[in-house]
Amino acid sequence: MAAVGLGQLFEGMKAFRGKDQRVRLFRPWLNMDRMLRSSLRLCLPAFDKLELLECIRRLVEIDVQWVPSGDKRKASLYIRPTFIGNEACLGVHPPMKALLYVILCPVGSYFPGDALAPVSLLADPRYIRSWAGGVGDCKLGGNYGPTVLVQQAALQEGCEQVLWLYGPDHQLTEIGTMNVFIFWIRKDGVLELVTPPLDGIILPGVTRQSLLDLSRTWAEFRVSERKVCMAELVLALREGRVREVFGSGTACQVCPVHSVLYQGEHLHIPTMENGPKLIHKFQKALSDIQYGDGSHEWMFPV
Ligand SMILES: *Cc1c(COP(=O)(O)O)cnc(C)c1O
Repeated sequence: MAAVGLGQLFEGMKAFRGKDQRVRLFRPWLNMDRMLRSSLRLCLPAFDKLELLECIRRLVEIDVQWVPSGDKRKASLYIRPTFIGNEACLGVHPPMKALLYVILCPVGSYFPGDALAPVSLLADPRYIRSWAGGVGDCKLGGNYGPTVLVQQAALQEGCEQVLWLYGPDHQLTEIGTMNVFIFWIRKDGVLELVTPPLDGIILPGVTRQSLLDLSRTWAEFRVSERKVCMAELVLALREGRVREVFGSGTACQVCPVHSVLYQGEHLHIPTMENGPKLIHKFQKALSDIQYGDGSHEWMFPV
């Protein structure tokens, strides 16, 4: 009989078919690092990161015909490594038996057609995804089960996703299962891309890291990892300083935001009116790397 233990964790990553038809994974080392961190947090056994990566590489090699062709430059093979305790036991202690497995699933474009569909968000400080001293910075199953009800509350309010706030100052932390970015002109006139810092309540996204890395090499605007709260966003919207707000994650890469429902008020975010220039630049840079010839150091050949 199957047993469900206390520990459940997972990863999400993708394989892409490049323009030379070869298949590659995007920055899989970061997923292996994060998965090992999650395992240690749950007292699931440690594993050799390079050995697991080699197992995943071999699995994708065997199922290579399931990797969609890159001609649409959107489709890919989603890879879901999973690690669970599966001991038949009722106590609370380190698992004596564990199962690590990997599921593959071809996925199409996150957005139908070529258009980037912007999303609306519910920002309600009564709901908290993650907290100081907690495990919001690990991809543990237990972090996601409780969010389904909140996602339903957002839908009931006519919003598509949840903007997770934190603390008495209503810090913006994440969008659904994406990291959050704001591209704006600061009060002191500086053009800035900002995302919350990895202070323990933020999931360290591979896409988040990639957007930070790309924009730092471009050096076209200030790039900051610091706290941002709703009052700052509301003021910047009033003063017309906000250019683009978006989420980042493996599923959609970069996802524009067009409105936030906060304290009964629908705040319009002018992301789409502003191009969205930066979002398009990120999308192009990422897909040039992912669907390219594999010369970029972020790509791992299968
Ligand atoms: C997975 C996840 C992300 C995005 O991480 P990527 O590695 O970019 O896919 C962001 N926030 C949360 C809460 C997540 O679970």
